Amino acid sequence: MRKGLIALAAAAAAVLAAVLIYDGVAEKEAQQTFFAMDTVCSLTLTGRDAPAAAEEIPAQVTALETGLFSRQAAGSEAAQLNRDGGGAVSAQLAQVLSATWEISEKSGGALDCTLGGVSDLWDFTGDPHVPSQAQLQAALAHTGYRKLHLSETAVAYDDPAAVLDLGAVGKGAALDAVREALQGRRLRAGIVSLGGSILLLGRRTFTVGIKDPAGNEGDCLATMRLSDCCISTSGSYERFFEENGERYHHILDPATGLPVRNGLVSVTIVAQSGLVSDALSTACFVRGVEDGAALAAAFGCEAVFVAENGDVTVTDGLRAKLTVTNPDYRIVN
Ligand code: AMP
Ligand code: MG
Repeated sequence: MRKGLIALAAAAAAVLAAVLIYDGVAEKEAQQTFFAMDTVCSLTLTGRDAPAAAEEIPAQVTALETGLFSRQAAGSEAAQLNRDGGGAVSAQLAQVLSATWEISEKSGGALDCTLGGVSDLWDFTGDPHVPSQAQLQAALAHTGYRKLHLSETAVAYDDPAAVLDLGAVGKGAALDAVREALQGRRLRAGIVSLGGSILLLGRRTFTVGIKDPAGNEGDCLATMRLSDCCISTSGSYERFFEENGERYHHILDPATGLPVRNGLVSVTIVAQSGLVSDALSTACFVRGVEDGAALAAAFGCEAVFVAENGDVTVTDGLRAKLTVTNPDYRIVN
């Protein structure tokens, strides 16, 4: 899978620990690359506890994937909920579901984590193909986040055939959990990248690139100078297939079950919370530039919208931190 964000500062190729000198103080640096949550992940940490912390993060992320978020992992809480049509959940998943529900509500349903049945029809990760209208309508009858009733300990499904799919929020939620686990560790700075979602730690400013969907792997259309935040990108180029000359991608309009076609190729959100950045990148992609910018502002987040024609829209708080690096793209607002 291709990454929407390129952490230029993290050239992690293998497990590696080195000693760097910051302000005259010897600092340990540790790097890891690993595969989790269906994507390539990487991290770089600096500070005294960096090697130990770097060893623990891959296992933590995999545990979140297989224990909580992945509906494909038979033993996960999400899979169990889908199998039983609701049931008890951990406090951690309850919190993620409740934050997700709120963003679904505020986005007018653009984010809907009950689209599992529709995603299954498209089968983007397996044998992708265009479903028939009848199949889509049948699956849409069992979607709708309002069919989920949440408490701090359980989820009740109005419709037992609803299929919870946390693909739009899982990586961001995992970044929040990683940040929490790193609290109290002696770290100076860090960058943790889970596919299209990145966590920046510490006071250091990093350069983060927004992928050029028309370019080669690693090519950016813009760079941003950022510190101490989470950044997520949703892009129509991340997962797609072609059938009869038409291109179909994985970000779906919950109203129709069809891939969103609104002229956008990617939306990047900068937020304090990983879950919020991940959820909003998907929701703002569905809503489009105008509504999406208002939605990001409602959560106090910054956003970058990239259109197929090369137009780039940047929210005010991010404008001075963003540089368009590819002449095929231009800021239009
Ligand atoms: P992201 O890459 O974060 O935008 O998440 C995309 C993934 O979320 C897809 O692969 C689907 O599993 C799921 N998804 C697609 N469209 C939506 C939507 N409108 N709301 C919630 N989840 C979605
Ligand atoms: Mg997302």
